[in-house]
Amino acid sequence: MQPSELTALANEFGCPLYVYDAHKIQAQYERLTKAFAKVERLRVNYAMKALSNISILQWFQQMGAGLDTVSIQEVQLGLHAGFKPEQIIFTPNGVSFEEIEAAAALGVQINIDNLSVLEHFGAKYPEVPVCIRINPHVMAGGNTNISVGHIDSKFGISIHQLPHMLRIVENTGMRINGMHMHTGSDILDIEVFLYAAEILFDTAIHFKNLEFLDFGSGFKVPYKKGDIETDIEELGRKLSKRFLAFEKQYGQPLTLAFEPGKFLVSEAGYFLAQVNVVKQTTSTVFAGVDSGFNHLIRPMLYGSQHHIENLSNPKGKERFYTVVGYICETDTFANNRRIAEIKEGDILCFRNAGAYCFSMSSNYNARFKPAEVLYKNGKGYLIRERETLDDLLRNQILLAE
Ligand SMILES: *Cc1c(COP(=O)(O)O)cnc(C)c1O
Repeated sequence: MQPSELTALANEFGCPLYVYDAHKIQAQYERLTKAFAKVERLRVNYAMKALSNISILQWFQQMGAGLDTVSIQEVQLGLHAGFKPEQIIFTPNGVSFEEIEAAAALGVQINIDNLSVLEHFGAKYPEVPVCIRINPHVMAGGNTNISVGHIDSKFGISIHQLPHMLRIVENTGMRINGMHMHTGSDILDIEVFLYAAEILFDTAIHFKNLEFLDFGSGFKVPYKKGDIETDIEELGRKLSKRFLAFEKQYGQPLTLAFEPGKFLVSEAGYFLAQVNVVKQTTSTVFAGVDSGFNHLIRPMLYGSQHHIENLSNPKGKERFYTVVGYICETDTFANNRRIAEIKEGDILCFRNAGAYCFSMSSNYNARFKPAEVLYKNGKGYLIRERETLDDLLRNQILLAE
């Protein structure tokens, strides 16, 4: 989106504001489906924890995507947005058995990542088809915070426990209709991904009634200049070819599924915040905005770099700034960053604000959550109102005495 379009939206809806470009989301979705065009049965389940506004979900539903969910509440939001139960997969970790039962009762595809749950569920509901999430023990990213496939990860059933999985399936008579892996949030290397895929194939061949193989996500998008980006087209060529060969070997039609979050929505998002104060200290110039980690926590939580530009002075001379928030704790968005000269009142734009930004926001410091706007066909549509004091007071009880 152009700086002028973003500025107009900031003026129309106020700051702080999240803006999502519907056409960028669509372009990413189509890029992925095109890369796998040779696969007859492809399913892209949007991992809604990245950005869960129901209008965003509706947009995915209209494009033909499925939905990947991690809580019963996400399932309910998905149904509310128009998804059918069979378009939803439930991939929880560490939730109660009752929650899995509730999701199954709604008719969504269950994905189990624990042997004890598999045994319990299979014994109680042998007629409900279940997908198994394996842990292929592949370290796809460089950062242990976000690489979930390695040996001590809490996610998935270890492939070394394959004999136990098979025994449970045999003993309970349950039907396993899908095999799943999700190796983490940053696939640096297509070869690593293909290596993990081989482990999924090796496991899948032991199960006779599979309908789909789910390769999870972990597609990397660039946050700053020079960042590596997953070459989706190359992955499409290589994995499609291998998948089709496996399908032949398996002898039954299989669906290839993915569940990206970040890849589909990260770059479509812009976070707009206004500069309250510019503060010179002995060593730095702070630009303090009307937001903080209550609205965008990724820089503080993961050290992630969100590119920042000054919409109010795009051609200005660049200077070095430390961009901070208004929270009464250290909440540094960017350290020593080169940005076009900032004056108080300017509007700053944080890029890559589509994934894990609003969905991780909170009311810390009793601040309101921002409004959200979907930009479509040249127009901004309000898809979430800015909160008010009523939202902060809802559910609170002032004791009568
Ligand atoms: C979070 C998550 C995803 C999406 O990961 P991205 O890095 O945002 O693409 C996919 N599958 C599962 C099971 C997840 O928990």
